[in-house]
Amino acid sequence: MSLTADAIIIGGGVHGASLAFHLARRKLRVLLLEKKFLASGGTGKSTALVRQHYDNFVESALTHASWKYFVNWNEVVGGDAGFVQSGFIRTVIASELDALRANTAMHARIGITTKLITAREVKEIEPSWDVSDIEYAAYEPDSGYADPQATTLTLADAAKKLGAQIFQETRVEKIRADDARVVGVTTDKLGEIFAPIVIVAAGPWTPHLLKPLGIDVPIACERHQVASFILPKEVKTRVCCIDGAREMYFRPEGHNLILVGCGVGAKKINPDQYNEAIDDAHIEFSAERIAKRIPKMIDGLSQGGWAGFYDMTPDEKCLLGELPIQGLYINAGHSGTGFKIAPAVGLCLSELICDGAAKTVDISPLRWSRFQEGKMYFDAHPYSTSWHTGHTEKVKA
Ligand SMILES: Cc1cc2nc3c(=O)[nH]c(=O)nc-3n(C[C@H](O)[C@H](O)[C@H](O)COP(=O)(O)OP(=O)(O)OC[C@H]3O[C@@H](n4cnc5c(N)ncnc54)[C@H](O)[C@@H]3O)c2cc1C
Repeated sequence: MSLTADAIIIGGGVHGASLAFHLARRKLRVLLLEKKFLASGGTGKSTALVRQHYDNFVESALTHASWKYFVNWNEVVGGDAGFVQSGFIRTVIASELDALRANTAMHARIGITTKLITAREVKEIEPSWDVSDIEYAAYEPDSGYADPQATTLTLADAAKKLGAQIFQETRVEKIRADDARVVGVTTDKLGEIFAPIVIVAAGPWTPHLLKPLGIDVPIACERHQVASFILPKEVKTRVCCIDGAREMYFRPEGHNLILVGCGVGAKKINPDQYNEAIDDAHIEFSAERIAKRIPKMIDGLSQGGWAGFYDMTPDEKCLLGELPIQGLYINAGHSGTGFKIAPAVGLCLSELICDGAAKTVDISPLRWSRFQEGKMYFDAHPYSTSWHTGHTEKVKA
């Protein structure tokens, strides 16, 4: 006999797990299907910064709503997401100081604890940093980072306690629709499963699942690397940082490591077949980068690293909401920054599915159809530099 459910979620990354939790909380019979194992996609490779500083309202509001989960994880979800409230600093290049001011003011209006601090104050927080290239930075004392596996697994456990069924090593081969209405999926192990609601949270595999239904979503897969270094004994560094001024991000790990992400990623990679190890040349590149901000890192020791993938969209923001087939929803295209918003996105999509509209945060600017409408989503004060832009290399070339 075929299985049935109220809602089927395709993909067991942090977004699928969050959706399973939130829909089960709304008393839907949820079934999550994961082709490999939980957190085996982009989620498992994430450095999992939980910063609230974005250059647009919707993502800042989503991160703030999610941050409230991370600081109260045991009460809200149960268990431990490994959240470390390390503090967070955002630097920018000199020409983006006005944008930094405007965005920080927007964050304060949302309720995020944030302020602009001078380079001298940055140095007081992080004495080992060279701050000669910055004038001001944004500082969020309450932000930090989490453990992506623990976050996903505790969400999945909480969903199961609420009655959700999770099937790993079960691949969805086809989404089934009848008269522009979704009716279920076909899987490799469980055959056909029927449900009036199907949510695709399949990261970079999403276009492949939607194309047979005539739905084209602009999600491309990029390889991005993370380098890990052992700190030399005189270096203590505590906060997470998106260092726009030096085009990298970094954060502490464990007791004595620092993780560094930087560099333009290789485009159009196959998420089922790519080099998951860090390139030797990239270790060198990352070491040079981090030594620009923390000069004593010149004596740091490489501890290797890894490569993961981002599911990129043209405006580097995710696609959320209902597709042109009734009952079929998308939650994908998180473009390398989607870990931290998973709790609030799960909540907002559960509101959309169960109540007809998301009320915690208006997610309509992230609707899938914005590209067809010729409307990318940018706020008034976008930054031109981040950790994966190549401004510095272009200037050097
Ligand atoms: C190196 C790196 C660093 C990052 N750093 C940060 C950070 O600091 N902060 C932050 O917020 N974000 C960060 N991100 C981004 C963040 O991790 C991702 O945006 C997020 O984890 C995406 O989650 P997801 O659930 O949408 O996708 P995924 O984790 O990719 O999950 C999709 C799942 O779908 C499954 N699937 C696919 N097709 C099928 C099918 N046909 N049937 C069944 N299952 C299927 C896959 O196996 C996979 O498990 C980083 C990402 C990387 C790679």
